Amino acid sequence: MGLNIDREKCTLCGDCISACPFAALEIIDGKLIVNNACTVCGICVDVCQEGALSIERTEAKVTRDNSEYKGVAIFAEQEKGNIHSVAYELLGIGRKLADKLNVELTAYLLGNDIKDINSLFHYGADRIVFAKDERLDHFNIDRYTEVITKIINKEKPEIFLGGATFIGRSLLSRIAVKLKTGLTADCTGLDVDDKRNLIQTRPAFGGNIMAEILTPNHRPQMATVRHKVMKPMRPDESRKGRIIEFGIESNLLTPVEFIDFIIDTSQKVNLAEADIIVSGGRGLGGPEHFDIIEELASLLNGAVGASRAAVDAGWIPYSHQVGQTGRTVSPKMYMAIGISGAIQHLVGMQSSDFIVAINKDPEAPIFKVADLGIVGDLFDVVPALIKEIKKRKGL
Ligand SMILES: Cc1cc2nc3c(=O)[nH]c(=O)nc-3n(C[C@H](O)[C@H](O)[C@H](O)COP(=O)(O)OP(=O)(O)OC[C@H]3O[C@@H](n4cnc5c(N)ncnc54)[C@H](O)[C@@H]3O)c2cc1C
Repeated sequence: MGLNIDREKCTLCGDCISACPFAALEIIDGKLIVNNACTVCGICVDVCQEGALSIERTEAKVTRDNSEYKGVAIFAEQEKGNIHSVAYELLGIGRKLADKLNVELTAYLLGNDIKDINSLFHYGADRIVFAKDERLDHFNIDRYTEVITKIINKEKPEIFLGGATFIGRSLLSRIAVKLKTGLTADCTGLDVDDKRNLIQTRPAFGGNIMAEILTPNHRPQMATVRHKVMKPMRPDESRKGRIIEFGIESNLLTPVEFIDFIIDTSQKVNLAEADIIVSGGRGLGGPEHFDIIEELASLLNGAVGASRAAVDAGWIPYSHQVGQTGRTVSPKMYMAIGISGAIQHLVGMQSSDFIVAINKDPEAPIFKVADLGIVGDLFDVVPALIKEIKKRKGL
């Protein structure tokens, strides 16, 4: 696959050069040249009025019978026997996909002594494939890859989802390579089309566009979803399902030995767990003004978040950053103060239950996602809020 230039048609107008986000096109000695930076994205083809540019695409050969693949499966991550809440979120979206496709939803669970295994049924699973083995007690990349690849080869799900956690990211990428299929990381939306293709939506080109990615020729279709992006369904304790034990015959060789868990104390804020987050952005004007954000957060028993602009300016550490290159959060209430609402910020917080925006610009994009918008100077609004909360708390 490559970019073809029809020199007869090319007028050297330069439209493709200015449109190319990778600086992959240039005119040298009166000729349009494509260099190694080309990713064959096709933007230049779309802008060329003369039809001088084209991409030669070869259809991928389908070497397996995709019709054998049926069902939706998710990886139910666990730590110390406790099921990670991202598994319930994956079951929430997995349930919707399975219902649309009219198939079963299965959770793949690896471990030994698992607490509350039935919760997977309560949150939407029809079946659990459980690889119960003490060697799978703690996450081990070699063993988990081997076992899940075997489960998938036996079960043949058409869709397999995992959390974009540290574990999920490293695991699903290896499994995808072993299965020779595609993987879309960090999806913000998942749906299916009428051909049973998984529509995997995620930000692309620095978050400036939302791309819809399909994997029409390979199965399973694999995707990871960040924690707190999808909503779990309301648990139904009357839901029941089948547990299928997956026997492990191999000796699960690995050069890695589990020694101990060590708690990382370097991250002082736990944005992912906070019910209320009060975030400050460039509108604060300087690091010294984060004190009003901290005071408001502390009165609300919340955590302090920030936009990347505030982090990049060195006003607050990166561990507070919310957004595409920071944390994805989904608190009960998110307050965006002096934050414009760039798409890269929105993808990290727009699934919050209730969003409050304080901004002096009534046209700021943050107001499009806000449940409550206050147009005003934050240096008037925030101290007034603090005063009122203190009054109501009797402080
Ligand atoms: C690849 C990539 C990844 C990125 N990842 C992230 C990410 O993870 N998180 C993130 O946040 N950004 C991210 N960004 C950056 C993003 O595009 C924006 O630049 C950033 O979010 C802007 O931060 P801001 O809203 O604080 O600043 P600005 O866009 O400058 O907005 C400041 C806002 O404050 C308002 N304001 C100013 N003064 C006052 C006042 N006195 N009272 C009330 N309102 C006031 C203004 O009206 C304005 O709306 C990323 C960008 C790229 C290209």
